[in-house]
Amino acid sequence: MPPYFDHAATTPLKPSAGQAITGHSGLANPSSLHGSGRRARLAADSARARLAAAAGADPSEVIITSGGTEADNLAVKGLYWQRRGEDARRRRILLPGIEHHAVLDTAEWLETHEEAELVMIPVDRDGVVEIEALAGLLAEDPEAIALVTVMWANNETGAIQPVEEIGRMCAEAGVPLHTDAVQAFGSVPVSFAESGASAMAISGHKIGAPVGIGALLVRRDVKLTPVQHGGGQERDIRSGTLDVVGLAAFAAVAEEAVDSLSGEAARLSRLRNRLADVVGPLEGVTLRGPDPRARPEKRLPNNLHFTVDGAEGDSMLFMLDMAGFDTATGSACTAGVPRPSHVLLAMGLSEEEARGAQRLTLGWTTAEEDVEALAAALPGIIDQAKQAGLAASRRQ
Ligand code: PLP
Repeated sequence: MPPYFDHAATTPLKPSAGQAITGHSGLANPSSLHGSGRRARLAADSARARLAAAAGADPSEVIITSGGTEADNLAVKGLYWQRRGEDARRRRILLPGIEHHAVLDTAEWLETHEEAELVMIPVDRDGVVEIEALAGLLAEDPEAIALVTVMWANNETGAIQPVEEIGRMCAEAGVPLHTDAVQAFGSVPVSFAESGASAMAISGHKIGAPVGIGALLVRRDVKLTPVQHGGGQERDIRSGTLDVVGLAAFAAVAEEAVDSLSGEAARLSRLRNRLADVVGPLEGVTLRGPDPRARPEKRLPNNLHFTVDGAEGDSMLFMLDMAGFDTATGSACTAGVPRPSHVLLAMGLSEEEARGAQRLTLGWTTAEEDVEALAAALPGIIDQAKQAGLAASRRQ
């Protein structure tokens, strides 16, 4: 594998996940009543308890899903439908524009099809929610609010949100909070119990489990309208045969990530800072998100994000790819057409500024040599990308 700097997209399968998969293969359906079914149920219960402990939740609060996207859809739609069903005035969804598409597009779908009213919570230049603005929005008309949804950490800029403070504010206003902790869980300390959130999404493949397993943590006193109907599994909130093998792998890597969190966070932030020190001072480069040196506690330890004036993020990505480094621009590409990141636009950047974005995310396979090799290559490639951008703008 070439030096891989795209761990936020997915991180390679961890050996502990592989062992859990092998150890749990051949299990029956955990809903079956025979002995094999009961053994599968026991294995599922044990894995669920381990996953819950790693996330600071009670096992009964864990609703297994196919990943983060499903968990976010279930939380946003499920809370909206439930709350609106209880009181038709509750049409507002409060959210910052930096949310992942799994939340943003779900909320927009509810706006188009289910009469939801989206209210954007402003964020500052670093991409952090402005608490006072949120307080004002919460106070405006609490009876009209269906839910608030604020991610724990942003997948592009790594900015960590003040979730616990937001949780307290939402509790005082009497409205449920959903938090998308897909990037935060396993990377920084995350406790569902202490967050004050009613629901929280996590995903396996971001921490070394296979793609296809995730969870929505739902507080026991919170009601959700199910999105998916069927056999009534997972407290009747998410029907479908439980993926015991995936759950066992998720529990194994979650436990491992939480146990090694402080050491790994220190190692990755040191390597990240090395890259920041190389690219930060280059002409035309702006580090985005909270400053990795001055406010390290405000951003994910494995994330570096920057924009380069006059360069195209995609061309930088391809140049890095040609040089053997896997990176990301962080923003979505629809049918091959690069779009400026909605996250950077929500932070107040112009389309022009947002265009030259690059995200480098480190993880458990990242070695010192990989970072040194990238540190050596980056200045030349950034320069080349700037020249290419300049040449392209002259042609226009
Ligand atoms: N939320 C965030 C913040 C993410 O970064 C991602 C994945 O990129 C998701 C949700 C979606 O998770 P999954 O890939 O498990 O569906």
